[in-house]
Amino acid sequence: MTMITNHMPTAELQALDAAHHLHPFTHGHDLNKKGVRVITRANGVTLTDSDGNEMLDAMAGLWCVNLGYGRDELAEAAARQMKELPYYNTFFQTTHVPAIALSEKIASLTPYDLNHTFFASSGSEANDTNIRLVRTYWAEKGQPERKIIISRMNAYHGSSMGSASLGGMVPMHEQGDMPIENIHHIGQPHWYAEGGDMDPEEFGLMRARELEEKIEELGPEKVAAFIGEPIQGAGGVIIPPKSYWPEIQRICDKYGILLIADEVICGFGRTGDWFASESFGIKPHIMTIAKGLSSGYAPIGGSVVCDEVADVLNGCEFSHGYTYSGHPVSCAVALENLRILDEEGIVERAGKETAPYLKGKWEALADHPLVGEAKIQGLMGSIALTPHKESRAAFAADKGTAGLICREHCFANGLVMRHVGDRMVISPPLVITKDEVDMLADRAWKALDLAHKQLE
Ligand code: PLP
Repeated sequence: MTMITNHMPTAELQALDAAHHLHPFTHGHDLNKKGVRVITRANGVTLTDSDGNEMLDAMAGLWCVNLGYGRDELAEAAARQMKELPYYNTFFQTTHVPAIALSEKIASLTPYDLNHTFFASSGSEANDTNIRLVRTYWAEKGQPERKIIISRMNAYHGSSMGSASLGGMVPMHEQGDMPIENIHHIGQPHWYAEGGDMDPEEFGLMRARELEEKIEELGPEKVAAFIGEPIQGAGGVIIPPKSYWPEIQRICDKYGILLIADEVICGFGRTGDWFASESFGIKPHIMTIAKGLSSGYAPIGGSVVCDEVADVLNGCEFSHGYTYSGHPVSCAVALENLRILDEEGIVERAGKETAPYLKGKWEALADHPLVGEAKIQGLMGSIALTPHKESRAAFAADKGTAGLICREHCFANGLVMRHVGDRMVISPPLVITKDEVDMLADRAWKALDLAHKQLE
């Protein structure tokens, strides 16, 4: 058997990978034609690939390494837990200390009375849990006909059948017959792309009021919940107009439906507060968490529910759970991650110092000839590319301009960014320093310049 290590030549690793590894969200042709990038090490905000190239990871992996790479304390927490109790489940009236400690810590960090966590291993699993959870909640309250969950187009809530149905990604729905029944979508609060000549705040109100129209159309007695990311992440970092969330909140309150804030990306400091629900004044009944919960060092997610929802659920046996719900090693790692984020003041510093500094640098990219808007909140931002700033037109879809810039020019200049259509997005580790912010902005500008010359 071949011994596969970091020290093998890149081409050999790529060939083995293409032969045996099926990748998420990757076109098979690209794997064979261009080969994959093999990441071998990481520290702080820096990734190293198998050719020794160093890159500033402006995406924190997949929006998750909030703490930055290379924190030994998390590795030690995992090793300690593996030696003491590597696995036990939380089914059938059983628990263990890491699950108790983590659920208590989450309750202390989340706002309002979001005091109870149902654990999963990912954001997708947690959102699948939410579908069953809200339907069970209403059935227990004597309203089993309340089954419908309303979401938005271009939302991302995960990749399983349930969570991808909650999401509003058309290419995902086209593969595998989604959405599943009783999930409906309204428009997204994406003023730049869809707002035309409207004032952004008017547009925000209009999009929020689509929720009320949808509830009336479907029948208020059938609607169980609304789900939304406070800022749509995978949809392209769409920061909604200020008018949007208060109106959504008003409508959810008026019809008495549950409000689910999907904080999988936004939570744990990403928007400058511990949770984006605080940044936008949202009062959710349920919050989906994952990613920054463990900074990606171990797979874990969860649904955090308010006292009233927990009381109702505790009135029955919720026949739902995963073998790894509250996995002790993931809980121990997440707990250590939260301890560090909290005790080292990383979330606070990110919100008060790094975010304003990054905002200045990021918004300056709007002056680049290819950029139509540059928006950021906390440490998640996006730029929209355009051939024509006034009209906010997008480049022709077949040009794939943003993808080209990210794949060719950003990587070549030591910067990992991601593209979503014609938007380029960032979500760096919260520990990024001001010097690294300068580096990020300089490299992004340089990549845009190279693309601009290519397009001329
Ligand atoms: N919800 C949101 C808002 C996400 O951005 C994601 C992943 O990017 C998910 C849910 C799914 O999380 P996971 O990939 O851990 O299943």
